Amino acid sequence: MLHRGSCHCGRIAFELEAEIAEAVDCNCSLCRRRGGLLAFFPRDALRLTTIEGDYATYRFNRHHIDHHFCPDCGIAPFSEGVDPRSGAKVAAVNVRCLPDLDLASLAIRSFDGASL
Ligand SMILES: [Zn+2]
Repeated sequence: MLHRGSCHCGRIAFELEAEIAEAVDCNCSLCRRRGGLLAFFPRDALRLTTIEGDYATYRFNRHHIDHHFCPDCGIAPFSEGVDPRSGAKVAAVNVRCLPDLDLASLAIRSFDGASL
């Protein structure tokens, strides 16, 4: 299924080809403050419809993940990283930025990112 997503102001907009049944609620120092719900996909499943790279990026801890956010509205629609086992590029999408997705239909799984 094709989902369309964006930050609040629309500077970052994208399409995501995916079936989404569950999302992760992470308690790491960033996620607990930011309050997103994450789902993970091959990076190829996400296609920006706005300018690639036209966002700010935050890195912390081991700097392995690029946490992108909009410099205008502050919303963080997705992050990017590499799966250390497969070497494949992965996108972590904040499913709260997909307005067509019924969040109440998702199975929410807690992830103890704070212990990593
Ligand atoms: Zn924005």
